[in-house]
Amino acid sequence: MKRARSRSRPQPQPQPRLHNKSKKSTLSVLDYTGTRIRAWYRDIRKRCRPVTGLIEHSPCYKFGRARDGRYTVKGTKVASAYQIVAYCVFGRRALKKVATSKRRNDITISHLCGTRYCCNPQHIILETKALNDERTHCHFVLNSAFEAYGFNDYRGVRRILKYGGCPHHPRCANERPEEVY
Ligand SMILES: [Zn+2]
Ligand SMILES: [Zn+2]
Repeated sequence: MKRARSRSRPQPQPQPRLHNKSKKSTLSVLDYTGTRIRAWYRDIRKRCRPVTGLIEHSPCYKFGRARDGRYTVKGTKVASAYQIVAYCVFGRRALKKVATSKRRNDITISHLCGTRYCCNPQHIILETKALNDERTHCHFVLNSAFEAYGFNDYRGVRRILKYGGCPHHPRCANERPEEVY
């Protein structure tokens, strides 16, 4: 419903449309050339530190000190580091399909390990937002089992996976099999 306009007061001027990152339909990392992105990837690989995660024999890679794992060039965030990793694993064409809006069937960068912003290339897949959301439940259950054993013993995690606790393909808490992509 339209509001009645006041004649006495000046109307606010319409703001110019902002082309900020959140309004874009593709990932900001795609604004850069492949050569630059691959150079950043090499830098990220050198600066990542391995941390224990849900995947046995395959640590998660944490990048930087910022909570969102941002990659900055001269103080400006160009992308999340894991998005740069995803570019180098899946290529530009595949990453163009990743939507910044997150509806159920939108393709998103998903983590098999459940570690947000993880930069291990074998922990990253592209799949629908709906599937990504389903994994949250698995990761919660697996994390509880991992915690019960003190985060250094995978018996609880192994047991859940062995008895079909995860219905997803590729399985949660597993490395991405090479043949999938
Ligand atoms: Zn990971
Ligand atoms: Zn699962």
